[in-house]
Amino acid sequence: MQSKANKKGYYIVTQKRRLYTNYEQYIKITQEIFNETALRYFNLIFEHLEFLELSNQKCLRELEKLTLKSKNGIKPENYFDLDVPVYLRRAAINYAIGSAKTYQEKYKAYLETKDKNPNLKMPTKPSKFNASIVCYKGMYKDFAEGSLKVKLFNGKTWNWYKANIRDTNSKENNEILSPTIVLNKEYVMIHIPTKKEVKDVSPIKSRMYKKNIRVCGVAFSNSDSFAICVVIDKEKNIIKTKFIKGGNEYRKQTSIILKQIKKHRQNGANYGIKDHQRYWQKLNNISNWYAHEVSKQIVDFCKENKAEIISIADMNEDINIHFGKRVGKYSPIYLRRRITNYLNYKAFKDSIIVTKVKRNYIASKCYKCRANVKRKKLKYECENGHSGDYFFNSAMNIGIMCLKKFGI
Ligand SMILES: [Zn+2]
Repeated sequence: MQSKANKKGYYIVTQKRRLYTNYEQYIKITQEIFNETALRYFNLIFEHLEFLELSNQKCLRELEKLTLKSKNGIKPENYFDLDVPVYLRRAAINYAIGSAKTYQEKYKAYLETKDKNPNLKMPTKPSKFNASIVCYKGMYKDFAEGSLKVKLFNGKTWNWYKANIRDTNSKENNEILSPTIVLNKEYVMIHIPTKKEVKDVSPIKSRMYKKNIRVCGVAFSNSDSFAICVVIDKEKNIIKTKFIKGGNEYRKQTSIILKQIKKHRQNGANYGIKDHQRYWQKLNNISNWYAHEVSKQIVDFCKENKAEIISIADMNEDINIHFGKRVGKYSPIYLRRRITNYLNYKAFKDSIIVTKVKRNYIASKCYKCRANVKRKKLKYECENGHSGDYFFNSAMNIGIMCLKKFGI
């Protein structure tokens, strides 16, 4: 079983870099052409709504049939007289299809809810697009260390123009997907989506066959520890334990802001909507920072101790609402959901799988002997005299249950 090669996968990261060019004016003209083309196709789609039932690729083909000369030069009824390179046109058509689908969804939602809500306004179709140019292959070339060439319209003809980029990670030899040229107020940016390899995306079952597989059980708490992690091997030996702290600090920081909000509300008159948004934004930023930090620390801990699987307890939505009501929002345990969301993708990038186990008996049984436990603040004691950290016991149970799930 072990001889099987690891299954590789990938994820996409978008690098955002400044684009240094003397041809900003041509980019502007090209962008206008891109948007005008997209708008023409967008409007045409609404004369053929049946196209939206098709896949994007088929929809694109139908639209091209309607608007371009056939091989023997016959002009169709809807002939579009466009001086646009094929790949810019296709990017524009795809943009139009995406926008049409979004509009149609909004329109359907409007039709479904307008009787209940008479104040609801019908969504309006855009009369102008202001999208950035998406460069399909054929619109850019010679992508090398620090530069590329882009096809632009100079007012008369289409030509290749060179532009420089600082700090591209092209050295790593990642596959590059269609870049987007973004005109900011002050400068030109290029967004470059790159495919990054994940060394191992093989499913949990095949990992469990490995002799030296290690599982990291993670319990979340509302104490000063956001997460309690323990790495175990197949024989349930404890390799290493980590308490990821910061819960009290998080609670303190958020409670200060919550108090400010309360105070401002009591003041009433001087309390503007902008202040309101500013405070909630602050709360959100703090929560995001901690969720990123905690999830990163969990993944780093797994990497250091060679755990390929993270096991967490399966909590459904009700539990989160329950936590919110019982311990208050912006408490460490309430951040659990955001932490696990981040944990999922951070772990994936490092070839680690996150799996869930049933939450029954995780805290109420002793991991050593399965007897019932009693909680005494942050400690536990079982009927057979085992004792220790309450959340560590949960983390061990979560790790062990993961092994059990796969018959180990
Ligand atoms: Zn026990």
